[in-house]
Amino acid sequence: MANAKSSTPMMEQYYEIKEQYPDAFLFYRVGDFYELFEDDAVKGAQLLELTLTHRSNKSKNPIPMAGVPHQAVDTYVNTLVDKGYKVALCEQLEDPATAKTTVKRGVIQLVTPGTMMNENPNAASDANYLTSVVKDKQGFGLAYSDLSTGEVYATHLKQFSAVENELLSLRTREMVYGGDLTDSERDFLNKANIIVSQPAEVDEARAEISYVTQNLTRKSEKAAAVQLVGYLLATQKRSLAHLQIARSYEVNQYLQLSHTVQSNLELESSAKTGKKLGSLFWVLDKTHTAMGGRLLKQWISRPLLSLNEINARQEMVQAFLDSYFVRENVIDALKGVYDLERLTGRIAFGNVNAREMLQLSKSLSAVPVILQALTDSGVDVLTDYAKQVDPLTEACQKITHTLVPDPPILTTEGGLIQEGVDDQLDRYREAMNNGKQWMAQMEAEERQKTGIDNLKVGYNKVFGYYLQVTNGNKDKVPLDRYQRKQTLTNAERYITPELKEHENLILEAQTRSTTLEHQIFIDLRDDIKQYIPALQKLGNQLAALDVYCSLASVSEENNYCRPQMHDDNQDILIKAGRHPVVEKVLSAGSYIPNDVEMHEDTDIFLITGPNMSGKSTYMRQLALIAIMAQIGSFVPADSAELPIFDQVFTRIGAADDLISGQSTFMVEMSEANDALQHATKRSLVLFDEIGRGTATYDGMALAGAIVKYLHDKVGAKTLFATHYHELTDLEETLPKLHNIHVGASEQDGKLIFLHKILPGPADQSYGIHVAQLAGLPSRVLRDARKMLKRLEAQGASSLGPASQQLDLFAEPPAQEAPAANEPDPLTEKGLDILDQISDLV
Ligand code: ADP
Repeated sequence: MANAKSSTPMMEQYYEIKEQYPDAFLFYRVGDFYELFEDDAVKGAQLLELTLTHRSNKSKNPIPMAGVPHQAVDTYVNTLVDKGYKVALCEQLEDPATAKTTVKRGVIQLVTPGTMMNENPNAASDANYLTSVVKDKQGFGLAYSDLSTGEVYATHLKQFSAVENELLSLRTREMVYGGDLTDSERDFLNKANIIVSQPAEVDEARAEISYVTQNLTRKSEKAAAVQLVGYLLATQKRSLAHLQIARSYEVNQYLQLSHTVQSNLELESSAKTGKKLGSLFWVLDKTHTAMGGRLLKQWISRPLLSLNEINARQEMVQAFLDSYFVRENVIDALKGVYDLERLTGRIAFGNVNAREMLQLSKSLSAVPVILQALTDSGVDVLTDYAKQVDPLTEACQKITHTLVPDPPILTTEGGLIQEGVDDQLDRYREAMNNGKQWMAQMEAEERQKTGIDNLKVGYNKVFGYYLQVTNGNKDKVPLDRYQRKQTLTNAERYITPELKEHENLILEAQTRSTTLEHQIFIDLRDDIKQYIPALQKLGNQLAALDVYCSLASVSEENNYCRPQMHDDNQDILIKAGRHPVVEKVLSAGSYIPNDVEMHEDTDIFLITGPNMSGKSTYMRQLALIAIMAQIGSFVPADSAELPIFDQVFTRIGAADDLISGQSTFMVEMSEANDALQHATKRSLVLFDEIGRGTATYDGMALAGAIVKYLHDKVGAKTLFATHYHELTDLEETLPKLHNIHVGASEQDGKLIFLHKILPGPADQSYGIHVAQLAGLPSRVLRDARKMLKRLEAQGASSLGPASQQLDLFAEPPAQEAPAANEPDPLTEKGLDILDQISDLV
């Protein structure tokens, strides 16, 4: 990059630094601006809508240049990083006024998509995870961290597909990875908008590395965490005292929900809009702190497997549900709590200002109120919880005793520190005050001496203190003592040696006092650093209280019940269950509740019924209730007895999988395959309209084979909705499969959806009613009815009983070859896939 076309020392320094950051925009501080040069300027001007100018305009090769004012730099940096770029912030490292040669400059921080700390309050409930991945013989080590809160997690995964799933679930935007990538892996990362960054050189001696990785025993996890922290240190270029001890986790330590399942079930965001509205998180989130919002999201994506842990959470929700006033008091106090986790991060980072320090102390002063409310409740779980919480009174007092209640944003211009904190500071202030008093006194004396009534002492930045006399009184000025300094239109300004002497005293005291104030502030900030781990723990405890209160409020508002959980069998008994989101969207009271009763003799419900009758809603309802229960939440039902599921699988709807870019049918099959391969007896499987993506017979054959496999080999609790009415005959041969359908009734020849789940298969003819609803010409409907009657009368003779047709694993009966104009029952593609499925059996 070094360039002969410009030889000024500053540009040489620029090229030298730029060489070290080839893949980042270099924001190069020049005075009050950050300048971009060369390609950075051309591209940056376009992306940031800046004016592109040129440096050394007169030379033959002017250098493209674009600049942003230093006060506004954050916005520009955020815009670029949001778009997936990196930005290296290069500062002047010495005062240009005192520098003898070119000002020394250096990069003080590399901002990347995975290390950006978004201060946008709207994004407060979103974490930004940087992920680090290492490959070894056994698979992959993966570690991730949210730099703003300092939390670190690490795990080991066998396959890259599992890595992909974690990356998607975490919504990672940057992966630190030094290994090779296959084309398909690269393809995935591109489509998922994840940038890959090369690992940085790691200084193993850094305290942060040993601190974070101290509890990691597995080699791959540790390697990933070391690489992660190394990258953070190398990009942030400062100590990161807020990084927390890494927590090792197993994906199967929680209810496993792949990214696809999470988005199919709209846990965090609506599938249609990608927004919170319409998701489970939307229903459950009545948190009052940003920390609470983030924790609730975490709980939703990682529901529990342990009966004890679920019960413990339920106990807390129950306690807050039963004690309305305790809950209200806690919520009121929580409203005064700022984002402790991120404030703690800023303290460690060293970019916290005095106002934020006070936010910290304000938050801390809410804690005793919360603890009082919990202790006064007299409820055991709440008093026990209070006992675990350290209110960090000392830290709170240190801040409130040091800082004034309403300090300025800047920490370098004084006005931060209270009186009585530091003797020296008080002396400086006294000197300033004395000086000012002396000025006032001088003003009075000089008025008397000169007889100029409107003589006054003033101050400005250029001339310092002066005596001002209006033009009308000019001739009274004692020029033997006064020295003229400045002439205005209607007044003259003078100084005297005495005045300047006192001015020096005042200004010196002032400079010293602001420097000292800044130092006291830095000392306070450094002192508070010792509380970082305790603050993080406290933040977590407050976040959890926030979530418990939220779940209690939601439960109260929506009439949820506390589910009874069991881990010794897989029986499900839900009375009058509802879909938590759909019931909120429908007008009050119009949601029709439905039971789910699946005992040992029932593994599969085969659900039939016309489109739009509520099959899909019923299936999702069960999954959401199960997930809510394992989060520790109460559930939308009159009563519920539930097992603990280990995994949930879904094949729902026909929404194309945008990330994998596969065809609908391929997605359908790979999701089905995921369930067939990995589901256990303890899993929950939802299959909606499987086989719809291909030809009728193909699809039906596949659907049948899949049901049979689930029944014979998997034994997971399964809801299987289908429009292949023929499949309902499977009930005769598969003992643990039962037909249910969504009721509909006919009134005046019109179809009314009852949304009520009833035993047995649906009446086939509803398709024609739906067609009628859609307004098809009556002639078409009449013909269809006639045709249906004929087909039904022909029955077995023409189509053969469904069960027989679906006896896929028996020798095919000797049959005449289908006539040329009849559709081939199984296309080649279908047979292919069937073969694969049969292999699995
Ligand atoms: P299907 O899967 O059978 O095509 P859906 O489950 O998508 O049907 O339901 C279609 C619509 O019917 C839903 O959007 C909802 O508005 C309504 N619905 C479904 N179940 C119920 C219910 N239990 N009570 C009230 N309305 C329901």
